[in-house]
Amino acid sequence: MMSDKIRLLIWNENEDEKRFPDTLKIYPGGIHGVLESFLKDDFAVKVATWDQDDTHGLSDEVLDHTDVLIWYSHLRNEIPKATLEKLVTRVFDGMGVIFLHSGALLSFANILLGPSSRRGAYREQGELERLWVINRAHPITDGVPDHFEVQQSEMYPEPRDIPTPDDLIFISWFEGGEVLRSGYTYIRGAGKVFCFLPGHSTFPVYYQPEIQTVIKNGVRWCAPLKKPPIQSRSGEVDFDYRTIAHNI
Ligand code: ZN
Repeated sequence: MMSDKIRLLIWNENEDEKRFPDTLKIYPGGIHGVLESFLKDDFAVKVATWDQDDTHGLSDEVLDHTDVLIWYSHLRNEIPKATLEKLVTRVFDGMGVIFLHSGALLSFANILLGPSSRRGAYREQGELERLWVINRAHPITDGVPDHFEVQQSEMYPEPRDIPTPDDLIFISWFEGGEVLRSGYTYIRGAGKVFCFLPGHSTFPVYYQPEIQTVIKNGVRWCAPLKKPPIQSRSGEVDFDYRTIAHNI
């Protein structure tokens, strides 16, 4: 019997792991390794990395079997444009995406969501971050306390120039006094997108239970809805948003 679990592809650039000994100390199996370890019981998980093959682990065959993609990128922005455009099309067709940490500010996210930039300087000194739920009705906050703390985090400050999110879920406060929109969502076509900023490759953020709960909830929320067949004037047709748009 086929599993009805959500099919999750965890994609990690896997570059911090090569350049920074501290990253491997904290994440010996890579950031993708720790993500896989807490997600594999709930979802049908596959892992891919930039360096694994010519397609960077993002072949059509793999994407054909992906409901939700988790994306962690930081240092490399050389993913071929054709691949990024392919990913964007997949999202518009219904594939969910979770952008983690710096992944929310770089190439794929910028092409999908619109450009973003940071005005203030970031601080990478392991300071305390307190996340506040500001949308208690959103399923991504299910089982998450009203606020919780990450003991060692990297600080990104507001104002950040990002496309206005469709829904704001978390705001963070940092020990240095800054605040940040740290969890927010977008709808793009038939696809759902969740950006979750806490992270950084040299801090053990992804071992924290609250963070893991948010990411699991995010995968469930981002999963594509079951699309009914559309009844057109001339009879039943396959559901394809782009075709339909052109035919109207
Ligand atoms: Zn970082």
